[in-house]
Amino acid sequence: MSETSSAPSFIRLFGRYLRDQGLPVTQQRESVAEVIFTSTAHLSVDEIEERLRERGDRIGKATIYRTMDLLVKSRLVEEHDFGEGFKRYEHRLSQQPIHEHLICLECGSVTEFESPEIHRVERRIREEYGFKPARHRVEIYGLCKSCHEAGAVLPEDGLFCPIETV
Ligand SMILES: [Zn+2]
Ligand SMILES: [Zn+2]
Repeated sequence: MSETSSAPSFIRLFGRYLRDQGLPVTQQRESVAEVIFTSTAHLSVDEIEERLRERGDRIGKATIYRTMDLLVKSRLVEEHDFGEGFKRYEHRLSQQPIHEHLICLECGSVTEFESPEIHRVERRIREEYGFKPARHRVEIYGLCKSCHEAGAVLPEDGLFCPIETV
């Protein structure tokens, strides 16, 4: 089951969510949802707008923002803030729903990785603290391989504390 061929059923799920909320299922909302559900990338609103334009859909940013809010509320899409000053979105129905992110401070590329170690940490926390973990988020900031090989150096501020740049 490839991601692209699953997109229509994800769009139907979103349609059902909208109807449950008493909101209209519009062509524009479906188009925005289709862009995110057919992509494996972590898209910004600008990138979503660009992809819509390439398909011949002219949809204003306000509509895209509003639709992304609804998609996030529906829990079909997850939003990320990688400290760039805008949000990025990815759908939660991919083959690899649980993954962590490596964010390049030079080119902004986002790479996904899986970490069985973190599941072990969660297990340990459950045992040691009696705390039941529900979810976690690991973001590692640094230089991707190609930027590193091209001679980029780490910007000190970014590495120092990415949280403060938000
Ligand atoms: Zn890079
Ligand atoms: Zn991701």
